[in-house]
Amino acid sequence: ETKDRTTNGNVRSHGYPEVRNLNYKERKRILVTGGAGFVGSHLVDRLMLEGHEVYVVDNYFTGRKKNIEHWIGHGNFEMIQHDIVNPLFIEVDEIYHLASPASPIHYMYNPIKTIKTNTLGTMNMLGLAKRTRAKLLLASTSEVYGDPEIHPQVETYWGHVNPIGPRACYDEGKRVAETLCYGYEQQEEVQVRVARIFNTYGPRMHMEDGRVVSNFVLQALQNVPITIYGDGEQTRSFQYVSDLVDGLIRLMKSDYTQPVNLGNQEEHTIKEFAEIIHEIVGGTSEIINKPAVIDDPRRRRPDITLAKSVLGWSPKVPLAEGLAKTIAYFRNELEKTAQPIRP
Ligand code: NAD
Ligand code: UDP
Ligand code: UDP
Repeated sequence: ETKDRTTNGNVRSHGYPEVRNLNYKERKRILVTGGAGFVGSHLVDRLMLEGHEVYVVDNYFTGRKKNIEHWIGHGNFEMIQHDIVNPLFIEVDEIYHLASPASPIHYMYNPIKTIKTNTLGTMNMLGLAKRTRAKLLLASTSEVYGDPEIHPQVETYWGHVNPIGPRACYDEGKRVAETLCYGYEQQEEVQVRVARIFNTYGPRMHMEDGRVVSNFVLQALQNVPITIYGDGEQTRSFQYVSDLVDGLIRLMKSDYTQPVNLGNQEEHTIKEFAEIIHEIVGGTSEIINKPAVIDDPRRRRPDITLAKSVLGWSPKVPLAEGLAKTIAYFRNELEKTAQPIRP
């Protein structure tokens, strides 16, 4: 079998990537909602390689078929085009519930839909978990802390969210999603896990999702100005996607049922990010300032003491290494789109 590994980790080949042969006792039926998205598709790859049966449910709002196309037709894989705002009846053992737009421009595009996805959608997935006795892991977010007044953010912090601002549909949607999880845990004995995910980057990020890493990399690659919103003194801490996937799988397996932060503790100002990316990519872009966006959190950095102790997890991929892979992915994507269409 010939294998040709592309920069986004996909395998173009006459066959499929080789998956482990699990016996029926070890093999689980795992649903990944949002599995055609950025994080979801990397998680799907890991679960498939481990030998599980994986069901992806996605409405392709921000996800794309090409993120999972290398598994289509595989005996252990099933793609279900479905909107989780509507009920779903399938039989599963575990649910990784990731379906929700994640980048500000995507979740602000249709705020009511974002709220429905995170509330009704999460309720449906919890209803499914209740009926099938499946364990459900919610992909929550550091945004539940809002514009935090304590630093770094620990899981016991209740947050500082503007309930009527432009980010509220997402922040409050995820907060309700968490509340729903613990309601179903207490009332219906559903087994839940809650990951509070901090900023994550890597190959397969949506080209037009407007997030800082994809924006800066694409701008640098195309020699157009790198756009800092506001003064650039706001901070973020970025984890590489493979570290996150590792944390999600560990959390699902663990007995710990309260929320757990998953993120990288290396914190940079956005200005520093612009300089780092410009430096690695090279090119002639200038770094410019644009107006600040409303309710932009000033500082964000996870306290991951809990993840270290209960999951034995900490991020492994250094920023330079993760950025190199991400840049290679975007360079390739740009080259593909630049190719002339031949008859
Ligand atoms: P993404 O936009 O790439 O993926 C989300 C996926 O969910 C997409 O494939 C989209 O089509 C699908 N989806 C959205 N609404 C749906 C619906 N109603 N029904 C079915 N499918 C739907 O985003 P991502 O970065 O991969 O994020 C995945 C999850 O992780 C999200 O829940 C997000 O809130 C969470 N998260 C991500 C980050 C990050 O930095 N990437 C940080 C914190 C939390
Ligand atoms: N649900 C679902 N799949 C299932 C079971 C339930 O989508 O396999 C939905 C169901 O339609 C309901 C939601 O999940 O809207 C919550 O289910 P629950 O059993 O808690 O509520 P009820 O059906 O009792 O209102
Ligand atoms: N940002 C920026 N320029 C961009 C895109 C984003 O300066 O082109 C800033 C944004 O204002 C925020 C940070 O980068 O302070 C992270 O933004 P992103 O949308 O990636 O994620 P989030 O705000 O959800 O953490």
